[in-house]
Amino acid sequence: MTGDRAELGVIGGSGLYALLDDVTEVAVGTPYGPPSDSVFIGEVGGRRVAFLPRHGRAHGIPPHRINYRANLWALHAVGVRQVLGPCAVGGLRPEYGPGTLLVPDQFVDRTAARAQTFYDGVPLPDGSVPGVVHAPMADPYCPAGRAAVLDAARGAAWEPVDGGTLVVIEGPRFSTRAESRWFTANGWSTVGMTGHPEAVLARELGLCYTSLNLVTDLDAGVESGAGVTHAEVLEVFGRNVDRLRTVLFKALEALPATRACPCRRALDGFTPGLPGVPGE
Ligand SMILES: [Zn+2]
Repeated sequence: MTGDRAELGVIGGSGLYALLDDVTEVAVGTPYGPPSDSVFIGEVGGRRVAFLPRHGRAHGIPPHRINYRANLWALHAVGVRQVLGPCAVGGLRPEYGPGTLLVPDQFVDRTAARAQTFYDGVPLPDGSVPGVVHAPMADPYCPAGRAAVLDAARGAAWEPVDGGTLVVIEGPRFSTRAESRWFTANGWSTVGMTGHPEAVLARELGLCYTSLNLVTDLDAGVESGAGVTHAEVLEVFGRNVDRLRTVLFKALEALPATRACPCRRALDGFTPGLPGVPGE
């Protein structure tokens, strides 16, 4: 049924799907348990788009408890092949203050306790046995998706930072000042709690994944003076969510109808052994 299928996906805040006039709520079961919520499918600029609220519609799932595998599997199952993953982050440099949009080209994994592969040797409930797969990850994000997002941001007069390294921490606590200074000393750009393992899991399914970092505050190690107040953070976030939505929608419209990027070839040479994967 057309209403249950989508080609593009967004994993993000729960406010996005509410904007669409005609949305179909689809509950998707997965071999890994339930995703964060139903998948909400609608249309953006003539493209079928599936929205999945990363933390659930009531925003009740903390970053370290998100079932990332179920989320990516659910999107793949409804037909999604290109995913945009916006997330709120802290800036690790003074010039990356609140309101900065950074489109990273690298990440560093500092998480500790997340299932981050589909290929862990455990048979699925249907009897499928995942193969041994070592996904290439030198360039973790889709070049076509990054280009679409960067163009969309510039078109919306929101000059983005093109490239940088997102360090993903386990959370739910924030960084200490020492950790934050260490991240900055390593040359990393932003710090968040949800950017990993989404990109890895997407690649393991042959999907395109693009990360969008909306900076909501400066991290502890670069905080100066009195720092921002909680009210200011909320105000900054609220002001930028509208811009972020605009950029997402423009980028979705601009994503290629036929993929020419390397993402879909990530599993070449491997036998995934999972139903529908790589699923082209
Ligand atoms: Zn791609």
